Amino acid sequence: MTTSPAQIQRIRDLAFQLYAELADFQTLLSVPDVPMAPARVRFDAPVGTAEERASAQLWPGKWFDATGFAKRYQVGTRPWYVHTGADLNLNFPAYNADAHAPVYAPADGTVAVADLLPVWGKIVVIKHVLEDGTAVYSRLAHLERFDVVKGQIVTRGYLLGTVGNAEGTQAWHLHYDLAKIDLSEKPTDWPGDDEPRVRRDYYDPLTFTRDRH
Ligand SMILES: [Zn+2]
Repeated sequence: MTTSPAQIQRIRDLAFQLYAELADFQTLLSVPDVPMAPARVRFDAPVGTAEERASAQLWPGKWFDATGFAKRYQVGTRPWYVHTGADLNLNFPAYNADAHAPVYAPADGTVAVADLLPVWGKIVVIKHVLEDGTAVYSRLAHLERFDVVKGQIVTRGYLLGTVGNAEGTQAWHLHYDLAKIDLSEKPTDWPGDDEPRVRRDYYDPLTFTRDRH
């Protein structure tokens, strides 16, 4: 059997095509890895059932913020304050249903403070590191109890403790704020009535959490 010139040409064409495809493939293989953006660090509300915390609603379930971020308020005859975060309360199905309610880590992080401090009562501060390396400090205060220690690594949703009333000095609620400044250095940071500093050094916890939920 002899090979016709047409068949030889066909084999050459196929070989050439195969060679071209191999070259393309090698080019593809030699393309450096496309750098993957690190996953956005997710934040949940620090209270609510697992289902409520996973849902899109903020604040979760029937929890509400009694004070509001950057709201100017006064307690009794004390000086005016500008609130650094949220005062999370729950009065459903009964008044003070928030008493003893579980408090969870809003995001992955490291416990920077777990202490009993004047005015604040039992307080936990967690250092979170965002995907771009920025640190955010969550502060959970007036707790009845905490079950974490300084230096402990926690994941989002980790049970930190329970809602308290600042050793009986305040109404039952969770004071929750998210600071841009290092609260591990000064866990009782309180700008008083300095609204520009509140806005400079703290995030609005509601919009921050919505953005990263
Ligand atoms: Zn508060």
